[in-house]
Amino acid sequence: MAVALETTSPPSAGTAAPKPSLAGLSREGMRVAFREAGVPEKQLRMRVNQLWRWLYISGASSFDEMTDISKELRTELSSRFTLKRPEVVAEQVSIDGTRKWLLRLEKHERDLKAPEIECVYIPEEERGTLCISSQVGCTLNCSFCHTGTQRLVRNLTAQEIVGQVMLARDRIGDWPGAAAPGDDRLLPSTERKITNVVLMGMGEPLYNFDNVRDAVELIADGEGISLSKRRITLSTSGVVPEIIRWGEESGTMLAISLHAVRDELRDVLVPINKKYPLAELLEACRTYPNASNAKRITFEYVMLKGVNDSLQDARALVKMLAGIHAKINLIPFNPWPGTEYECSDWETIERFADVVNKAGYASPVRTPRGRDILAACGQLKSASEKKRASAQASDGGDAEQQGL
Ligand code: SAH
Ligand code: SF4
Repeated sequence: MAVALETTSPPSAGTAAPKPSLAGLSREGMRVAFREAGVPEKQLRMRVNQLWRWLYISGASSFDEMTDISKELRTELSSRFTLKRPEVVAEQVSIDGTRKWLLRLEKHERDLKAPEIECVYIPEEERGTLCISSQVGCTLNCSFCHTGTQRLVRNLTAQEIVGQVMLARDRIGDWPGAAAPGDDRLLPSTERKITNVVLMGMGEPLYNFDNVRDAVELIADGEGISLSKRRITLSTSGVVPEIIRWGEESGTMLAISLHAVRDELRDVLVPINKKYPLAELLEACRTYPNASNAKRITFEYVMLKGVNDSLQDARALVKMLAGIHAKINLIPFNPWPGTEYECSDWETIERFADVVNKAGYASPVRTPRGRDILAACGQLKSASEKKRASAQASDGGDAEQQGL
């Protein structure tokens, strides 16, 4: 049974603007903040380095911990800023150890209310994967995806994207312990709980390119959180021009939401296909920088009963990927209220997987995790959000779904 650990009360109706948080900021963002707090120009670099280490190596959540920063400056900083992460509205832990957080973000000027997103941690034997969101909602309308039924509320800032990683590390105790001042030893990767990050939550990350890129740079920064780009995967529905740019400007691992082998069907399942059809998508994958065997592209394929799950589809799939360094990930469809699709039968999935495996593509069928807390693909949406969304059905609501 799932255990709901915590809920917080709704945000108070206070009018005072909240103090901005420094957690999740880039070096440049910190520099601006310090300048605002009156730190002399020639000290800026040193102060930024100090704060950077406290935040991204030690995971500090209070200014008091920052013992190599003078008391006066700490007081000044705490009068202007906080170190808050996104607010946890609810945390659920599945019997299989999967954790799901419903997070409330700071309300921006144009937000009707403080947006909420979800973030999931999936522990496995040899690794732990954190699935994070890049947008609140999505502009695309993939017909099998719950997010696709919701309109886009807004892009997340880079700070909010990094904030999800910080929050998750806080909650599962994944900081290397308070390092002594000046001690910047990094936690060996074998000791990490979050070993991988996937941008497979809510939203199309390539439609929030700059913020996602900046967040990835911060998460991968060798003097901070230091998670290798080889352990960060961006999943896209296939925004072809941005795939190429992503390869040039960031170069993380790539996952493509393929789901169909014929344009006619993909136009329905993943409508962005009408703009960037399969041939163009596959060409972009062929030229994705460093796509070698060691750095293969993952093709995600959701198993939809009677829609895309025939053996003919399986054979066409392996033929289509010939010449691309690929692995195939078969995802059992996760139904949501109101969907017309069903998940393929288990035997059908196995027969499909057989064809794919025999052709030499490792194709682990993704075991649904955290089903008891509705944390698997297409299920990430809290009951309260669902209620609110149906109450707002006429304007589309802003609730979300994430796929893992
Ligand atoms: N927008 C990006 C990333 C978020 S979706 C993308 O489309 O790739 C992450 C993955 O979950 C995608 O492969 C998506 O197709 C899949 N997905 C969405 N809804 C699903 C559902 N109901 N069941 C199974 N997988 C789903
Ligand atoms: Fe958006 Fe991805 Fe869902 Fe398509 S599958 S609607 S791109 S979140």
